[in-house]
Amino acid sequence: MTHDIQALDRAHYLHPFSDFKALGEEGCRVIVSAEGVYIIDDQGNRILDGMAGLWCVNLGYGRDELVAAATQQMHALPYYNSFFKTTHPPAVKLAEMLCRLAPAHINRVFFTGSGSEANDTVLRMVRRYWAIKGRPEKQVIIARENAYHGSTVAGMSLGGMAPMHAQGGPLVPGICHIRQPYWFDESHGQDPETFGRDCAAALEEQILALGEDKVAAFIAEPVQGAGGAIIPPDSYWPAVKAVLEKYDILLVVDEVICGFGRLGEWFGSVHYGLEPDLMPIAKGLSSGYLPIGGVLVGDRVAETLIEEGGEFFHGFTYSGHPTCAAVALKNLELMETEGVVERVRSDLGPYLAQRWAELAAHPLVGEARSLGLIGALELIDPATGQRFDKSLGAGNLCRDICFASGLVMRSVGDTMIISPPLVIRHHEIDELVTKARAALDETARRLADTPTSPLQESLA
Ligand SMILES: *Cc1c(COP(=O)(O)O)cnc(C)c1O
Repeated sequence: MTHDIQALDRAHYLHPFSDFKALGEEGCRVIVSAEGVYIIDDQGNRILDGMAGLWCVNLGYGRDELVAAATQQMHALPYYNSFFKTTHPPAVKLAEMLCRLAPAHINRVFFTGSGSEANDTVLRMVRRYWAIKGRPEKQVIIARENAYHGSTVAGMSLGGMAPMHAQGGPLVPGICHIRQPYWFDESHGQDPETFGRDCAAALEEQILALGEDKVAAFIAEPVQGAGGAIIPPDSYWPAVKAVLEKYDILLVVDEVICGFGRLGEWFGSVHYGLEPDLMPIAKGLSSGYLPIGGVLVGDRVAETLIEEGGEFFHGFTYSGHPTCAAVALKNLELMETEGVVERVRSDLGPYLAQRWAELAAHPLVGEARSLGLIGALELIDPATGQRFDKSLGAGNLCRDICFASGLVMRSVGDTMIISPPLVIRHHEIDELVTKARAALDETARRLADTPTSPLQESLA
């Protein structure tokens, strides 16, 4: 069975973000089921999912209420569009609930099938907004290096991932990138608060270099997720906000990861006191049970599009998909009735912070940081106190050791990151930290034994 699936996988399935050839040679682990915060492979191994799938399974696996919501909706109306003067209850109720949970100035939603489509929508909406306002030259969107905003052409153009930019260009024009507030790797000895202010100053410099009259919007995640769980210094966001207020520029806060409780608030923007004009959402919106995304649209942009815009030629077959919307609605209702967000803020976040910080004492760890239920470990060579040579692949080695020992912890270069389901319990956080420490020990041993090519070893 396993071998059949693996062989067929190799023969036919091109995986996302994968080196097809290398993956074919190594073979894939086969995941067959899941419950709570654990995934289970076809060998019966229970693996603690420290990444909530891909930052999305916030309510954990095996929630019958979500299955029931999908089943009921599929019986009633599995699919219908909302293009031609039609609508349906699940999308409307979900829109209403989202606007109730969002900050007061946000009262409209545009639905998409994914986070990438949400950011495509952002790009079109922002430019449309300024065109309606009679300022079509205000086109440029400022984003950040090492940002992730999805993998469609617009998503990857907004993102600042150099390896993605190197493939499939030319990129969407009118997007530029400024430095990221990544203190551990890029501060060169500056204290965090000065560094944070300098990174915000880079935004103002970019605006002035382009001309305020050319800049449409700034887009950023509250905490960079895929970039490496990068938590900006406290000085960063207030300084960015001040710059945007000084010039007439829209703020887009990508809430695809930080939204829906990850930082201990319904939205990451709320944690940082931001008032975004647009908030792309996806992932935790449905706890990943079905694909759905959207853009929460603040009054300033919404009123303009509605009152002055005429037809907006944009939408997707699956915008507001009834079954996906029904599951997302049930997901949010469960989060609300179970007090999930509040628990992350007052209990789980602080508990993880305390346990995670203990790993900072490990010789391989240069920094341990967390906020809510997102965290990172920066790996360093104990011999030098600096980063390992990239060719050693220390992060990937640690990730593979984790997986083999029953923990999903992802690597971004030599940064190890976690983003567990928001329903994780204290003893499961303990298990996560214990397994992470054991994996660090084993990684250190392997790197000491085979300093040249640890990646050659099979961990199967
Ligand atoms: C995952 C992600 C996206 C893209 O979402 P998809 O559903 O994969 O298209 C966009 N922005 C951020 C911040 C993300 O983490």
